[in-house]
Amino acid sequence: MAKVKYYYDSETLSYRKIKRKKRTTFKYALVFVVAAALFGFLFVSIAGYFIESPKERQLARELQNMELQYELLNKRMDDAIAALENVEERDNAIYRLYFEANPIPEEQRRAGFGGINRYKKYEGFDNSQLITESNKRLDILEKAIVVQSRSLDEIAKLAEDKEKFLEAIPAIQPINNVDLTRMASGYGYRTDPFTKVRKFHFGMDFTAPRGTPIYATGDGVIKRADNASTGYGNHIRIDHGFGYISLYAHLYKYNVRVNQRVKRGDLIGYVGSTGRSEAPHLHYEIFKDGERINPINFYYGNLSAEEYDILLQKASLENQSLD
Ligand SMILES: [Zn+2]
Repeated sequence: MAKVKYYYDSETLSYRKIKRKKRTTFKYALVFVVAAALFGFLFVSIAGYFIESPKERQLARELQNMELQYELLNKRMDDAIAALENVEERDNAIYRLYFEANPIPEEQRRAGFGGINRYKKYEGFDNSQLITESNKRLDILEKAIVVQSRSLDEIAKLAEDKEKFLEAIPAIQPINNVDLTRMASGYGYRTDPFTKVRKFHFGMDFTAPRGTPIYATGDGVIKRADNASTGYGNHIRIDHGFGYISLYAHLYKYNVRVNQRVKRGDLIGYVGSTGRSEAPHLHYEIFKDGERINPINFYYGNLSAEEYDILLQKASLENQSLD
């Protein structure tokens, strides 16, 4: 029941009821409701600042978990970078060295990203540093992998070239000489068999009966198979590329045609005594960039160190050449 208030009327000397206007009542009610709402809002706001809601607790846990996962990912990236560093080290110290390519300097492998701050978008949060660091690591890793990959492409190309080079250069003896008894005369000053004068002998002589097979000493193309050069008689020249040409002289017969492609070990002709020759033998020469060089340096293909020594001794004997 609503309270009834009275006032004392001094004119009529009696108590009279106070009549409140409806408007006033409404005004009071409105003020009360607004004040209560304001107070409530303030209270919830302040309490919310100090007390977490279940949803906030859940979000905080998720954030914590994410940070932990970020740190674990960073550790794994460190491991990946370390593994790559190991490959880079081998790349510089072994592969590139072996193929005579310059090592890639550290600065080039670890070149950063200059100019604008590409990590600006991660700034302004509690975990900005963690996210920025992770991204930096990943960028370094990606870039280093690209550099390493390019290096391996280069190595693969060099290896292919080297393989071709090793197959091409004259690297075996031109006739079957397992017991090494066929080396008759080496490269250097020798007595000329015809004039008996000391003269430079630009090749190696292998004695062998007429008809003994002669083999290509490296891959290449037959450039000549004729007797149009003075002294050599029937002879073959193989162009091996890389500036190398091998020459086989005093042949009895050819087993190849000009422009034919040959592999190391292919039978190209037979020993004879055509041209300026004293007895059946093979005169063998190697040209490098147009200069005749000592073939003894090229027999590593199928000789042991000991065999090579024996051949070297025989080739350096100051005897008479067969020309
Ligand atoms: Zn000779």
